[in-house]
Amino acid sequence: MPYCIVCGNQESLASSKFPPCADTANAPPYGLLGNFNEEGCLMTMECQGASLDDAQEAYERPEEYFDTCPLCGSRDIRW
Ligand SMILES: [Zn+2]
Repeated sequence: MPYCIVCGNQESLASSKFPPCADTANAPPYGLLGNFNEEGCLMTMECQGASLDDAQEAYERPEEYFDTCPLCGSRDIRW
């Protein structure tokens, strides 16, 4: 399962490939956030700057898209 090598977070990962929506107040710093279950399967995604097509791509190849830990900001994600 994917997890952050730095802080051990394995519940959610962010994608640096999509910029956040700058127009929205209080927007999260990532355009796409994925939530994973205990088996490491991508369960839900939160699109903040990514389109639905982008999200579909990320869903099919999450290891290529989710490369950032949203908790500590690390890019050291192990799959
Ligand atoms: Zn982390």
